[in-house]
Amino acid sequence: MVKVIFLDRDGVINKCAKEHEYITQWENFEFLENVPKAIKLLTDAKYKIVVISNQRGIARGVMTKNEVDELHKRVNEYLNSKDTNIDLFLYCPHEIGECNCRKPGIGLFLAAEKLFNVDKSHSYMIGDSDSDIAAGHNFGVKTIFIGDYNNLADICCKSLYEAVQIILGIGRCV
Ligand SMILES: [Zn+2]
Repeated sequence: MVKVIFLDRDGVINKCAKEHEYITQWENFEFLENVPKAIKLLTDAKYKIVVISNQRGIARGVMTKNEVDELHKRVNEYLNSKDTNIDLFLYCPHEIGECNCRKPGIGLFLAAEKLFNVDKSHSYMIGDSDSDIAAGHNFGVKTIFIGDYNNLADICCKSLYEAVQIILGIGRCV
């Protein structure tokens, strides 16, 4: 079995786009502080990293799947240069209410489960929105909220780096 860290993308790994805008290319992709370092700590500790994000901009015609795939490739090229890696990028390209993969649905988690024998009791969903936390709960992993406070999350903290410290037992919960 493998321990998996499921990560939301925008607002957890990289800075969010402005409201009603989407991150569509590498040039607009900005890692949040210490994120590559946080991901390396996790991969060094033998966690698999699976990004699960809602990318409704595809359904809305704002961006294409090819652009999203190309962006994710660039993200991994950068992480590879830092000696780490995201194992899998999964995203929902659909409109609201049209599928079971848009979070808080768990379709993408089930897709990941086909590839990895997920050890749910040692796996986490980390996100910055209610739908991330709900999705993690629905799938049955522990949840970490990045932001001020979320009453449904198991743990709340300020950044992915801080979350990783807590997961690895090298930091303290706020
Ligand atoms: Zn979907």
